Amino acid sequence: MLFLLLLTVLILPIFPAASEFNYPRILDHPWDHSPITVYIDNKSVPPHYIPTYYTQVQKALNYWAEGGNGKLDYTPVFEVVDSEKADIRIRWVENLQKDQGAPSRVAGDTIPFIVNGRFIRVDIMLGVGYSQWGEWVSYSDIAMLAIAEHELGHALGLDHSNDKQDIMYPTNEQINNTNPILSKYGSLLLFAVYAVLAIVVFLSVSYILRRVTK
Ligand SMILES: [Zn+2]
Repeated sequence: MLFLLLLTVLILPIFPAASEFNYPRILDHPWDHSPITVYIDNKSVPPHYIPTYYTQVQKALNYWAEGGNGKLDYTPVFEVVDSEKADIRIRWVENLQKDQGAPSRVAGDTIPFIVNGRFIRVDIMLGVGYSQWGEWVSYSDIAMLAIAEHELGHALGLDHSNDKQDIMYPTNEQINNTNPILSKYGSLLLFAVYAVLAIVVFLSVSYILRRVTK
């Protein structure tokens, strides 16, 4: 057991280094021109769209323009334009699962159109939240930033990383851990359930013991 534990500790640091050497990419140089034009559709938005999401996309563009996760072989220059003919088109959808048939828990989707080994256009769809027990849960700004950074990473040619610390790790486009408040209450709720369960078990055991000893 201890040997296995030691082995894991020894192996773990090797993996990120290996993936760094051979980082998974869709294309190394997907864009044959600069600047890359970006259209952010904040006009036809879904009902649960929050205006601060737009700022998160701007921040995500800056993140990559300033080097991002350091895995691009080039420095992208963006130009936000007011035309749907842009290279990268970003829009929000209410529910990615229902509207786009995406797998459950996925919060963002990127579709690159590739011709002769280059991107000619990339469509990015960002979800705005999900419903849980009939209640709508909006993505926080922090979650939206992570989702936008991740999807833009795809639009710049990067594929998924197996390094959990990397923005291109698949969970950054998923729903889990995207709402810190909910997960905080979630664990509190779980603790309460365990506490009640423990009390019930204690009471029934002591009840049975009392009946047996009578
Ligand atoms: Zn992804």
